[in-house]
Amino acid sequence: MIAIIGAGPAGLAAAVAAARSGAEVALFDASTNFGGQYWRHRTDVAGYKAERAQKYFDAVISSPNITFISEAQVWSAERRDGLIQINYLQGGAESFLTVEKVILATGAHDRTLPFPGWDYPGSMTPGAAQALYKGHGVVAGKRILIAGSGPFLLPVATGLAEAGAHVVGLLEANSPLRWARSPIALLRNPLKFFELIYYLRLLRRYSLKPQFGAAVVGYENGVAQIARVGSSLRAKGVDRREIACDVVAVGWGFQPDVSLGGILGCVEKVDRDGTVIFQVDSSQLSSQANIWIAGEATGIGGADLSITEGEIAGLAASGSEIPKKLLRKRSAQHAFARALQKSYPVGDGWKEWITPETTICRCEEVSHSAILDSIHELGAEDSRTAKLLTRAGMGLCQGRICSRNVAEIIAGARKCEVSPSERIAASNRPLAAPISLGVLADGESLN
Ligand SMILES: Cc1cc2nc3c(=O)[nH]c(=O)nc-3n(C[C@H](O)[C@H](O)[C@H](O)COP(=O)(O)OP(=O)(O)OC[C@H]3O[C@@H](n4cnc5c(N)ncnc54)[C@H](O)[C@@H]3O)c2cc1C
Repeated sequence: MIAIIGAGPAGLAAAVAAARSGAEVALFDASTNFGGQYWRHRTDVAGYKAERAQKYFDAVISSPNITFISEAQVWSAERRDGLIQINYLQGGAESFLTVEKVILATGAHDRTLPFPGWDYPGSMTPGAAQALYKGHGVVAGKRILIAGSGPFLLPVATGLAEAGAHVVGLLEANSPLRWARSPIALLRNPLKFFELIYYLRLLRRYSLKPQFGAAVVGYENGVAQIARVGSSLRAKGVDRREIACDVVAVGWGFQPDVSLGGILGCVEKVDRDGTVIFQVDSSQLSSQANIWIAGEATGIGGADLSITEGEIAGLAASGSEIPKKLLRKRSAQHAFARALQKSYPVGDGWKEWITPETTICRCEEVSHSAILDSIHELGAEDSRTAKLLTRAGMGLCQGRICSRNVAEIIAGARKCEVSPSERIAASNRPLAAPISLGVLADGESLN
């Protein structure tokens, strides 16, 4: 049996490919339904190429070889007698399943950068704003400002406008001219032009005009402070504009979720954009036998690349041949993923926006000044020591949100770079999800 963790585009494609090759598949997801971040756990997906999602949903539902285990949060996994035990929480109780092979398709989450007011009510990530309206039909506010960097801002802004929100601005920090640096990648992915045209039409329909070279650098009492920035994110000049809004949705691309593969000992590496991803071979096999990894956890590249990687992993895990055409498709999509990194870099100028009072770790309410004190007063030289001295990264999210920012603040203050080993250490944790001691002790619900 093959266990697939994550039922987003990569996990669904892997499940369908493996099942069609005759393998028995257990498809896990922490959510109530499949679809992942993009198709949002709904069976009536709307938006660009929505019919593709439906095709995967129908294939999973109709396949006798696929068992979908929903609301199952895999908190750990371990090797046992040559097999792999998947430990998961479902309905407050702990269960496990032992399988021969695993495909990890755990995806990514929004990358956030701190700014004064990012922890105030009304400030959220574009992913959160999108999750509210896609998953629950709730529009986060009346006047919403979308900002940050990356093509993901387009579906969020147009989706919110479509759902009835007044999108008061769409701020992209980088210049669209940066795409000119990747002509070959664009030529190798001609279908991406149709996606662009699709979103340009929606922008026109909702009278949304993106402003380039601008970022939200503060938010308080329903007013966002806007500065002109370059790709370094350093504010140009001292003039700041203000935009009144009840929600600011600010995001800076994505952070892959490497928790489970890290627990299983799969080798990780640092990608060009500083994110930690898994090292996989041409069949998506990780450094560990019988563990394949697909989708955003091997590098941020969009849903199309996730689907292709998922299909390759599903075929490989079920022992089927991988068509050369599929490998060529992935190569072109990897070129596009590199073009995304070149077009939407996230510079370190954000460290100049933050003040001593700005909260960096929201779970443990650790301020920027506390982190600087841990370096200058207490001698911390890396994020692990700063964590022990300040508790930054020790809260419920276990540093998923802040650990990269803490490491970069410390490196900036010490005038050095964050080392690859520190980036990898900051992205890993011993458990993939919180579990209570009672449930852990007897494997039963305490409810
Ligand atoms: C918040 C957000 C919104 C996005 N919206 C868009 C969009 O509108 N348009 C677009 O083009 N791209 C969007 N993207 C990018 C898009 O997510 C990816 O390109 C694509 O969905 C990646 O597919 P994936 O299968 O690799 O991962 P995901 O879609 O992220 O799926 C991963 C799945 O794994 C599950 N999972 C993770 N860990 C565990 C665990 N331990 N136990 C159980 N289940 C687990 C998650 O619940 C999730 O369903 C979005 C990304 C994010 C983070």
